[in-house]
Amino acid sequence: MARRKRILVTGGAGFLGSHLCEQLIGAGSEVLCVDNFYTGAKENLGALLGSPQLEIIRHDITFPLYVEVDEIFNLACPASPIYYQHDPVQTTKTSVHGSINMLGLAKRIRAKILQASTSEVYGDPETHPQDETYWGRVNPIGPRSCYDEGKRCAETLFFDYRRQHNLSIKVARIFNTYGPRMRPYDGRVVSNFIVQALTNQPITIYGDGKQTRSFCYVDDMIDGLVRLMNTSDGVVGPMNLGNPAEITMVELAALVIELTGSRSEINFKPLPIDDPRQRQPNIKMARDTLRWAPTVPLRDGLDKTIAFFETLMIARGAGAAR
Ligand code: NAD
Ligand code: UDP
Ligand code: UDP
Repeated sequence: MARRKRILVTGGAGFLGSHLCEQLIGAGSEVLCVDNFYTGAKENLGALLGSPQLEIIRHDITFPLYVEVDEIFNLACPASPIYYQHDPVQTTKTSVHGSINMLGLAKRIRAKILQASTSEVYGDPETHPQDETYWGRVNPIGPRSCYDEGKRCAETLFFDYRRQHNLSIKVARIFNTYGPRMRPYDGRVVSNFIVQALTNQPITIYGDGKQTRSFCYVDDMIDGLVRLMNTSDGVVGPMNLGNPAEITMVELAALVIELTGSRSEINFKPLPIDDPRQRQPNIKMARDTLRWAPTVPLRDGLDKTIAFFETLMIARGAGAAR
């Protein structure tokens, strides 16, 4: 019998990482999940914990790692502003030192390696929608810079390791993604709005709420990431992955209130520094190269996410709105 593929997922106990581990194990691979549990948790891997196909290592990727695998998905990095700004130096280290270690590992064992980059590399963009040729408008010294510039430097490292060491790399620029297993209090807008709506607390809209984002359901994103990893060596990206359906934060709040049947009111709060005004991916490259496009409409994805938070809050003894 052919040997199972061995795949390293850094950040595998996080929101996206845990869904990715599940998908890969379901497809028959062996998964090595490496995580320091800063924003992730073993419970996210719940159903997989007894599986002989899963191995978990508590490890910080800013330190060297010596393992043997066929492929590496490098997802380790806190993604929510509250957490990535809590220890900004560690955030930059995770993207920069962490990428160097994972690229050094990939080089030694000749593994294919995919980087979870981000739409934040575009910063507060002057072009709309954003396509991959746009170089971005990022403040290098602001509170978001540890994340944005860390991810930009990681992209540089990936492309230099390819040019210098002929590594097989893939760089995905992930746009806002949501779904079950987001942390209830990690500060991202979808989880904030849902938790606030379910508890009938005021919904906190930052700024005038006219800023836009484009939200992709997690299952679609995982499908895109796996397809990108499975492309031939010539396909490297950077490639936008996201759902082009764009919405303002005011509209998102109204939709969450409607879907939860909440009595929450709206509470406008100051806009955080350097908060991008608009964001929508141009996904032509992914459509053409991966034959991929998101399939889950926002309403359906929100329904599933709301159901997850309801169950979580009941389990924790917090009241839900309905
Ligand atoms: P998350 O915070 O849920 O997951 C990140 C995981 O990485 C956590 O399990 C955390 O404990 C782990 N981690 C952090 N620093 C580490 C370190 N130094 N060593 C080992 N593990 C470490 O976030 P997520 O939403 O699942 O994001 C996963 C990846 O996708 C991140 O790289 C993020 O930048 C990228 N991304 C996510 C989104 C999104 O909307 N969810 C958008 C763009 C990019
Ligand atoms: N590295 C690692 N695991 C490996 C091989 C390398 O963590 O299996 C780390 C190692 O600590 C090194 C980094 O990756 O600092 C970059 O490796 P590379 O070979 O590119 O550079 P060098 O070893 O020359 O610094
Ligand atoms: N936001 C908001 N209320 C919240 C949390 C976030 O209005 O309770 C806004 C935030 O200012 C931003 C958008 O929602 O304009 C998306 O924020 P998130 O942190 O989820 O993602 P990012 O800004 O990294 O795209």
